[in-house]
Amino acid sequence: MRCRCGRRAVFHSKVYKVTLCDECYPNFYVEIVGRSVKRYKILRRSERILACVSGGKDSCAMAYALKRLEYKFELFHIDLGIGRYSRECLRSVEELSEFLDVNLNVVRLEDYGFTIEDVDRRKVCSACGTAKRYLMNVFARLNGFDVVATAHTCEDIINFFIKNMLSGNVEYISKLKPRIDSFDKLVAKSKPLFDRTEKENATLVLTLNLPFTSIECPHAPHDVWKEIIYDVELRKKGFKQNFVRSIAKLANFIRLDWNLGHCKICGEVSNSEVCSFCKLRLRYGKG
Ligand code: SF4
Ligand code: ZN
Repeated sequence: MRCRCGRRAVFHSKVYKVTLCDECYPNFYVEIVGRSVKRYKILRRSERILACVSGGKDSCAMAYALKRLEYKFELFHIDLGIGRYSRECLRSVEELSEFLDVNLNVVRLEDYGFTIEDVDRRKVCSACGTAKRYLMNVFARLNGFDVVATAHTCEDIINFFIKNMLSGNVEYISKLKPRIDSFDKLVAKSKPLFDRTEKENATLVLTLNLPFTSIECPHAPHDVWKEIIYDVELRKKGFKQNFVRSIAKLANFIRLDWNLGHCKICGEVSNSEVCSFCKLRLRYGKG
């Protein structure tokens, strides 16, 4: 297959009806990210953005797009203390920071008294999610950032949607908006890649040879829903992106009744007397 410019194609999409080479694809990718960011009012030009990068392909693609779109941003990485995996992730984000010439901020979970390796095996991903949400919010607020950007893809959002629907947590769907404005001590959250697929992100980082790690976290669970989502897409092209855009519309109609107070230990927003992060510190912390 050939690109419209005549070079050998690296990307073909029936959804967008395009066939592109390694030189034309990055421009196309940046253009579709920019279009969604504008259409869904995900980021504002005046904002200081804290772009969360894990070291993987999706957040690497997000940082590249933000740079090309000329947003004001810095990178933020949490060292979770998961042995070789965390070392590789840190190495990749350091290279990315150098490549993009964007400042990198690193926070070590160990500095809060524990690492993900200390957590009970059955609760590891939920603890990891709690720690990431807490640390990105606190770091952004204390350092004057207006909005946090995370690289959730359409597969992540559909996955979260299905799981919450099946367990009856309908109100949680309101968290799936491409942008959630600030509230109390919570900094605004944004998902600039909410309608991008993992394949689109992977094609970008591979064609440009951007620094990322393909090592998977040793705690990553086998996710059957992601496989189902991919199966549906194979049978019905465009399913994922059409579905995620409908989720974004639906999320506007659902209100999460914030019944929030403040943690009596750290003072951050919490729906119980002690927030989930402080509970982790109390349980696993070493002094
Ligand atoms: Fe954290 Fe690894 Fe679980 Fe992802 S798979 S949430 S990085 S522990
Ligand atoms: Zn707390």
